[in-house]
Amino acid sequence: MEPLIHDRYANNPNDRVLDFIVGKRNAGAPVIGMYCGYAPVELVRAMGAVPVFLCAFSRKTIPAAETVLPSNLCPLIKSSFGFIKTDSCPFYALSEAIIGETTCDGKKKMFELIRHIKPTHIMDLPQLPDETGALVTWTAMVHKLKAFLEATFGTKIADDRIESEIKETNEKNRLMNDFFAYAAHIPPLLSWSEIYDVIGIEFVSGSDELRRLLEGITAGLDGRLGKGEFIGSARSPRVLVSGCPVGGDATKVFRVIEEAGGAVVAMEACSGMKGYSIEIEEDTGDPVSALARAYLKIPCSCMTPNQRRFDALDKMIKRFRPDAVIDVILQACHSYNIESYRIEQHVRDKHNLPFLKIETDFTDSDRAMIRTRVGALFENI
Ligand code: SF4
Ligand code: SF4
Repeated sequence: MEPLIHDRYANNPNDRVLDFIVGKRNAGAPVIGMYCGYAPVELVRAMGAVPVFLCAFSRKTIPAAETVLPSNLCPLIKSSFGFIKTDSCPFYALSEAIIGETTCDGKKKMFELIRHIKPTHIMDLPQLPDETGALVTWTAMVHKLKAFLEATFGTKIADDRIESEIKETNEKNRLMNDFFAYAAHIPPLLSWSEIYDVIGIEFVSGSDELRRLLEGITAGLDGRLGKGEFIGSARSPRVLVSGCPVGGDATKVFRVIEEAGGAVVAMEACSGMKGYSIEIEEDTGDPVSALARAYLKIPCSCMTPNQRRFDALDKMIKRFRPDAVIDVILQACHSYNIESYRIEQHVRDKHNLPFLKIETDFTDSDRAMIRTRVGALFENI
């Protein structure tokens, strides 16, 4: 099958983001390290800065992290901290300021251990998003973030620049959702790794550039359709992967699903498709409030109740028509782990779909066990 992307980054998609950030930094743009999906990137981009996400998925820095952090902690937090401890994350090194949010306990306590290193701003995220007052608090937090950026970098972030970034995000999200249609096709025309590659491209592109690049990529996908080339076959079990963010060493789960004959057609997590479901109101005259309203709706499991996650899952199931849902839980992620029980009930009762929960970390030690369980799941489809 012809690869979709033919540039020099085709085999090293992470280098695309790194080269982009280095280029921007060399051209004088500040780089802002960010940890979660709740801080509006539009504010960062509106001041001419470049956001970069610092959540890490490599096992190699975990031993160093465990000299400080408890071993029974989410591997994503340990990996991210380990990169800082060993001074080996180029993205963190390039960042001139750091933004975190009070999502889960592990992350917010980890921020206390690193906040002395670089200017760090923590956003207090309300976790009962439907309560009266939550939006007021969160809007104030978005204003405080704007004030932090302005004070740290000696600039003013103009409303018209924020408005223009809101429109950019909405347009890019529309383009990405059109692109995801190729994964919704039966059989799928697009693999999970190709989706991740294009997410990397989206990150470094404006909407016009992304549209042009996607024209070439979708022409390749239309070519696959014409030639009858698919990811797997019509009989390959279609899997929606939900749960914690998945990247780097955790993508072993996606690989195992493919090895077992399945196809990953949708990825619910914030490392996958979740972020592209945001729609920010345009031309309201108050773009900061519009950002706050949109971002507070992100359905991370740190929220309670988290009905929006169930509603979003319903939409994904309707669109991508999976044969099964596999919920990936990173070790010691209590909020996703506990919510998994209700996700299972919802998936089985409302959608009559098989469900499998996989608790894992970034090692390879459970790979054979995951393979056995995924194989057993597929036998019953
Ligand atoms: S799942 Fe929630 S806490 Fe984890 S990275 Fe995403 S937004 Fe942050
Ligand atoms: S996966 Fe869970 S424990 Fe880990 S950072 Fe995200 S919300 Fe926190």
